[in-house]
Amino acid sequence: MKIGCHLSSSGGYLAMAQTAVSIGADVFQFFTRNPRGGAAKPVDPEDVRAFVRFAAENGVGPILAHAPYTLNAAGAEARVREFAEATMKDDLLRLEATGGAMYNFHPGSHVGQGADKGIELVASMLGRVFADVADRLGKMPSTTVLLETMAGKGSEIGRSFEELRRIIDLADVPLGVCLDTCHVWDAGYDIVGDLDGVVAEFDRTIGLDRLKAVHINDSMNVRSSHKDRHEKIGKGKIGLDAFGRILRHEAFGNLPFYLETPCDLQGYKEEIAMLKGISE
Ligand code: FE
Ligand code: FE
Ligand code: ZN
Repeated sequence: MKIGCHLSSSGGYLAMAQTAVSIGADVFQFFTRNPRGGAAKPVDPEDVRAFVRFAAENGVGPILAHAPYTLNAAGAEARVREFAEATMKDDLLRLEATGGAMYNFHPGSHVGQGADKGIELVASMLGRVFADVADRLGKMPSTTVLLETMAGKGSEIGRSFEELRRIIDLADVPLGVCLDTCHVWDAGYDIVGDLDGVVAEFDRTIGLDRLKAVHINDSMNVRSSHKDRHEKIGKGKIGLDAFGRILRHEAFGNLPFYLETPCDLQGYKEEIAMLKGISE
């Protein structure tokens, strides 16, 4: 089982991998740039070389890059959509330095345009992003792009498996899914009382072959709250027993798990140890 957490990228790739190892993590997630947007630091080839060697020696990976929260491909303003498109293209080009990574993004918020319009906008952006990046690389990107399941806060798209399926169908580019346990719970999926049922619904609607990563977070709120407030593992409404069943479920067994709980490094170290303890 591979489990890790979100880490600060301020020290570069090697520093993140070293931090991961120091807290017992096998994988890690990081923001490609400031989560509120802005320019990304240039990739340091020396850091990437050292990281690749260290990661191979210590069995770290796959790494999961997270797009900034401000990336909204479904925005109403052209300026917002253009930022989303330019940012995703730039992120995917930069991620070729550490080939074979995963890249997770929030589908976006339709801000009153309606889910159908939002889904169309996201899908068409993905088509242009893949075409342009493939053009510049002379091949398809080696990064696996993932749509994250969302809590349905405000006008968020991706609050249901059906909405993600529609993006996948319309975009017609290779896409995977990152399932966030807090988000699906807040969206209304009963992963506590009927995990098998939720897994079966995911499989029917999206297909388990698309499921590539799990964000493992407890939730501060009751099911269907649409709030998206992460809680420490076992301290929220999902609870430790449910996480044990998730970790041991055959649908999730070989997937990498990434914690995004409100923890410092010591807290993550303890959560990783605890989750490894209940995964068998
Ligand atoms: Fe996220
Ligand atoms: Fe998440
Ligand atoms: Zn969240």
